[in-house]
Amino acid sequence: MANWPDGRRVAVCLSWDVDGESAQYVRFPDRARRQLSELHQRLYGPQVGVWKVLDLLDRYGLPATFYIPAYTARMHPEVVRAVVRAGHPLGLHGYMHETLDTLTPEEEERVLVRSQEVLGDLAGYRPTLYRSPSWELNRHTPELLVRHGVRSDSSLMDDERPYLLETPAGPLVEIPIQWLLDDAEHWNHTRANRDKAIADPDAVFRLWAGEFEGYHQAGGCYVLTLHPFISGRWVYMQTLERLVRHILGFPGVWWTTLEEVTAWAERQSDLPRRASPPPEPVGGIRP
Ligand SMILES: [Zn+2]
Repeated sequence: MANWPDGRRVAVCLSWDVDGESAQYVRFPDRARRQLSELHQRLYGPQVGVWKVLDLLDRYGLPATFYIPAYTARMHPEVVRAVVRAGHPLGLHGYMHETLDTLTPEEEERVLVRSQEVLGDLAGYRPTLYRSPSWELNRHTPELLVRHGVRSDSSLMDDERPYLLETPAGPLVEIPIQWLLDDAEHWNHTRANRDKAIADPDAVFRLWAGEFEGYHQAGGCYVLTLHPFISGRWVYMQTLERLVRHILGFPGVWWTTLEEVTAWAERQSDLPRRASPPPEPVGGIRP
């Protein structure tokens, strides 16, 4: 097992997906055309939430990674500028937050190329980090990403440390994530899912802290995925700050970004290499 830089025991990546209102247009186009409510709830992210996030990072001197759909970046260029000014890396996250399993291969490539152009123009450099909308990847996606100069993806859940995903175009660094470490699973609350209770912030703190303690022991790469329109609310920001302070009490923490973890992974000679797609079942899928 390769070691983290300077003998540190665990890597911690705070990451925010600044989705804004983008996903609503592709998931529920009729509703988005007729109704304001959910669009405005999601606008809270780029308008209010993300500024609280940047303030928290500034107060603790912490780095983070921001994945932004190109449409959201175009609608809120001040967010892109503020993220770049603060020195946090940007990543690609679709154009309208299109879930990849809804696109043809041609549409998927067009979305990728266009989002690279838009984010590149606004940021002043070409982002090479990727996280798929809703963490959905097609079988051909890793190869497409490599062909377009993307260096890492952060959408798969089969490990707790980075590894290399083999593709016909070359390897892609994969930095794994998990639903458990995503604020949306606990706190995203809309009219459409009102039957699901809002999770108790203390319970979410225990889940996130418990996972962190395991990652710290095992030497993992702890990636928290957050959304300004969800956990930009005060009580959730307080929960996140409590988690930051908790982690600050542990020795050997590498507070880092997915950009730095990607660069670190590219320098390693002994990272696990995994096939993409995974091998077909021996003897086929029928018993
Ligand atoms: Zn997203």
